[in-house]
Amino acid sequence: MLKALSRMKPGNSIFSALGTTVFTVMSQLAVQHGAVNLGQGFPDGNGPDDVRAKAGEFLNDRPNQYPPMMGAPELRQAVAAHNKRFYGLDVDWQQEVMVTSGATEALAACLFGLIEPGDEVVMLEPLYDSYLPMVRLAGGIPKIVRLAPPDWDLPHAELAFAFTEKTKLILLNSPMNPAGKVFTEGELGFIAGLLERYDAYAVCDEVYEHLIFGGAKHIPLMTLPHMRHRCARIGSAGKTFALTGWKVGYVTAPPVMLGPASKAHQFLTFATPPNLQRAVAYGLGKDDAYFKSLAADLERKRDLMAEGLRKIGFKVPQPDGTYFLSADFSAFGYNGDDAAFCRTMTTEAGVTAIPVSAFFEGPRAPNTFVRFAFCKEDATLEEALARLARYFKR
Ligand code: GLN
Repeated sequence: MLKALSRMKPGNSIFSALGTTVFTVMSQLAVQHGAVNLGQGFPDGNGPDDVRAKAGEFLNDRPNQYPPMMGAPELRQAVAAHNKRFYGLDVDWQQEVMVTSGATEALAACLFGLIEPGDEVVMLEPLYDSYLPMVRLAGGIPKIVRLAPPDWDLPHAELAFAFTEKTKLILLNSPMNPAGKVFTEGELGFIAGLLERYDAYAVCDEVYEHLIFGGAKHIPLMTLPHMRHRCARIGSAGKTFALTGWKVGYVTAPPVMLGPASKAHQFLTFATPPNLQRAVAYGLGKDDAYFKSLAADLERKRDLMAEGLRKIGFKVPQPDGTYFLSADFSAFGYNGDDAAFCRTMTTEAGVTAIPVSAFFEGPRAPNTFVRFAFCKEDATLEEALARLARYFKR
């Protein structure tokens, strides 16, 4: 039997070579050890009551057959209106908006739709875990530029060097997971200049667009001069409404980009549950107070977590966005890398985080930073801090 199995043809080489995602691995370890899970990024709340109530209502009141392939008209209109309300963008909901099953599918549809085998794709480390396999499956050649902690500055010269005549697109994540970095207007202007010079596109993963703190401002690259027709902008109801299990995403892009992306989408999922789409349309229309309190609440949690971790001995650069902070544990004199540190913290201290090196592919990745998700009830964060304080005081 074993001999027969060993003769069988292997699966796709890109996926066969991959392990299970670090988020699943760490969540499983957390469950196994009864640890407080600040690893995988999901809130421990249940999202806004009214948005969930709408989903329930629409489940019973409205059709449950395939919605239109591009998305329910209500949601596409709501995405266009959201673009106007928050960023002053005029968007044609029929030509320029598509609904997907989460931002993950939106990313896949844009990458599969745009990349031709042999195209170069500029990508910034740290990289969200689905980016590289998707780019490679599409036949793209990753050109990776590294941003390093604690400052996560954009290295302008290296970025310019990564662009060539073969560059098809840049994949940009702002606010950036796990760095918590929000790209500034100056940085975005520099990227825009390169896109124009090399006639390239940008696929902009902006799922954390509303999770912005202090004086920081989220600026979609699409709003910069000459960028309206080069950028696809991706959002996620999972982040904006703290409903990660819903997997409702949306893309705003000019027809030249959305056309090919929609051809990929029609064969990836075709559509997304209609009641969830309509409830998200309702959610995007919520008043400003909702969006302000979403950010303000998380900012308070960021401060609670950052201050608590600093007291315990971590060095914590302040994130301006997302619900993650990446903390440096080098002051503990731990004899091992970040992956080992996260395992020890889970099994011995009872708190789970994600090793930041998991977001890097190149050699000599930073290995003394761990990512904590702070999108949790205060009591959960306080319990995690108490456990860490007890463990590291020994
Ligand atoms: N985006 C989430 C994170 O960074 C994880 C999503 C997932 O598990 N696929 O933690």
